[in-house]
Amino acid sequence: MKITAVKGFPVRLSYRNVFIVKVETGAGLCGLGEGGMAGRELAIGGLLDHFRRFLVGMGPRRIEHIWQCLYRSQYFEGGKIEGAVIAAVDIALWDILGQALGVPVYQLLGGACRDRVPCFASVEAALTGPAYVEDARALVAQGWRRLRLFPGMPDLAATAGVGTLDQSPVGVVPQPPDATIYEPMESLQLAAHWVREVRRAVGPEVGLSIDFHHRLSVAEAALFCGQVADVHLMFLEEPIRAQGPTAYRQLRAMTPIPFAIGEECSSKWEFLPFIEEGLLNFARVDLSNVGGLSEAKKVAGWCEAHYIDMMPHNPLGPVTTAASIHYSAAVANFAQLEYLHGVADGYPRDLFPRLPAIAGDSFPLPTAPGLGVTFDEEAAAAYAFDPWEAPHWRRRDGAVTNW
Ligand SMILES: [Mg+2]
Repeated sequence: MKITAVKGFPVRLSYRNVFIVKVETGAGLCGLGEGGMAGRELAIGGLLDHFRRFLVGMGPRRIEHIWQCLYRSQYFEGGKIEGAVIAAVDIALWDILGQALGVPVYQLLGGACRDRVPCFASVEAALTGPAYVEDARALVAQGWRRLRLFPGMPDLAATAGVGTLDQSPVGVVPQPPDATIYEPMESLQLAAHWVREVRRAVGPEVGLSIDFHHRLSVAEAALFCGQVADVHLMFLEEPIRAQGPTAYRQLRAMTPIPFAIGEECSSKWEFLPFIEEGLLNFARVDLSNVGGLSEAKKVAGWCEAHYIDMMPHNPLGPVTTAASIHYSAAVANFAQLEYLHGVADGYPRDLFPRLPAIAGDSFPLPTAPGLGVTFDEEAAAAYAFDPWEAPHWRRRDGAVTNW
């Protein structure tokens, strides 16, 4: 069996695009992968065009060999785009192998470590008022036991998920517009208040967490942690950018709250200092950014040695979701998988005729050979790539701040 074609499909799924990769073989099997840049997907396509020149003709069962070949064939190795492209190819190769052997991918990763894959839900509106508490209460009434919250701003509705609605037919996630004002100190004070109100509403048994989307400084993050010490958060996600361990080392000394970081890591080497220095408590590995199932398995093994659980980042497309389910089923040190209603509920069924279906707060173990996702490339034209740029937020003084 040889690889005969490698195709890239940047498609618009909701408010943004995803990049689907299809690897075809002469044996009639084809595998699906996804590269997860969450923006600027044409860069993924450019590198895929380059990789195609030597992928075609290779044996698709040599998954680790191909990973090494893609990574180490460049003198200036690594980076976000390369991590995403390698991820897409790697996931597609595991899909092909599973189909060739007639087993779900998780069987190839060591078999199921659990009977189902539990998820956490996100209250996608911003944490700004009583309506948010009602949303959290409704999710708990639906059976969710782990909720993640997002911060907001006091005087502007247009923050962190509450704003102008994307009106595309598949667009279900509210999007903040450009020039939205985000002031960290105001936001964290508001968040601290409403996190406490949510805790009062849902009780002590529900796991609560908050994702600051790396919008804070060390000082701001430490202040927030002090303000919510009595709320007993399950984790604090990305309070500051995870571009190096130094700032997290400082923050670690200022709070005992567990940190959930790692979604931006594009290789095991980027995880290295956070794992080895005890700065990471839940590993937010993103299969479509870190380099695929192969690299994510290595990160999990490394985390296992440090008693760190995996909590895969999963706000992208259905191929990433499927790969994350197989991975989550097969790694021993797993906490929970991200499930984003606003994105997943809008996956178009004509484009993805078969995709994973959640049951309650968990995914059942997949049963189909391979990943269990299908993609109709004929339908892709109806979901043409439409450039999307993450909103450019500002402080009140006009300075740039993080979305
Ligand atoms: Mg996050």
